[in-house]
Amino acid sequence: MSRLIRAVIDGGALRHNIEVIRARAPGARVMAVVKANAYGHGLEQTALSLPGADSFAVARLEEGVRLRERGISAPIVLLEGVFTDEQLREARRFDLELVVHDALQVELLAAAAPVEPPALWIKIDTGMNRLGFRPETFREAHQRLRALRPTPSDIRLMTHLACADEPDGEMTRAQLARFHAATRGVSGDVSIANTAGIFGSVPVGGDWVRPGLALYGVSPFARGTGRELGLRPVMSLESAVIAIRSVPRGETVGYGATWRAERDSRIAIVAAGYGDGLPRNLPSGAPVGIGGRIAPLCGRVSMDMIAVDVSAAEHAAVGVGTPVVLWGEDPAVETLARAAGTVPYELLCAVSQRVPLELR
Ligand SMILES: *Cc1c(COP(=O)(O)O)cnc(C)c1O
Repeated sequence: MSRLIRAVIDGGALRHNIEVIRARAPGARVMAVVKANAYGHGLEQTALSLPGADSFAVARLEEGVRLRERGISAPIVLLEGVFTDEQLREARRFDLELVVHDALQVELLAAAAPVEPPALWIKIDTGMNRLGFRPETFREAHQRLRALRPTPSDIRLMTHLACADEPDGEMTRAQLARFHAATRGVSGDVSIANTAGIFGSVPVGGDWVRPGLALYGVSPFARGTGRELGLRPVMSLESAVIAIRSVPRGETVGYGATWRAERDSRIAIVAAGYGDGLPRNLPSGAPVGIGGRIAPLCGRVSMDMIAVDVSAAEHAAVGVGTPVVLWGEDPAVETLARAAGTVPYELLCAVSQRVPLELR
């Protein structure tokens, strides 16, 4: 039998996807977002598979340090910046670019030993109301950064879009208008677009784009999949059938006895469960790729197993050892996320530590 559950990572697809992103954002530099263990794909391996990225972005200091320790020399941006003097010194030691989104961070920089910092990114809150200076306080913050000694040579401007995945671009246009009004006359590179901003209906522009999800071949939109954007899925979460059972009509399968056989049924038990990161709320009927075809999940997801109804004639060849695709080419992770009432981001990030990543 092939190995049980594993996440197969397609490095070729990663490189394909970054080229698709470049074609969508001609002239822009690409800051590859690899936070949250590269959305479950493996932080270091993903970065090493993307020599074409102009920089990398992470959420936490430790992630940036890990990349440096694996020899990544490209610029690395700390999307949340630093919060203590100790973190600031660590970030400097590893030559990490900082996002500055709060007055306390300006104070930290002003109080620290004067060194020539790598690029600073000042974040403007244009409506997300999560991180960033409000437009009316941005100028003052920008001036304070410019007054640091030695004068930072490169202060860049960024904001983050709240609704770029929505077909009606109203919020995005309002955010762009606020951004351009706040930064009028201020020089410096600009970065606005995440994946939805790159592929969405409103042209967003900017000198840098910040794709996360698209790198992994996945669509952020409510409909469709990455394939329709020209992307290829990078992760294929795969396992195998470990048992086949005959379930007589009228009997039930799994915890809670939520699925009842309406006919004498053939049920495949697959080694994959919420302990691996499958959402427990996946409903019966959700698609499972088994032996190259799609069959319906039946009953509840358990910690280590799921059951799949392979009664249909087209699944006659399914047996112990038949390979299973939980998500990847088919079903797409977008499809599974919709079935679970969540977004593909969450499914990818939730792949658990016990699932080995296999670079292909
Ligand atoms: C996570 C993140 C991104 C990437 O978003 P995607 O939707 O995955 O492309 C870009 N910018 C910021 C500030 C982020 O936090």
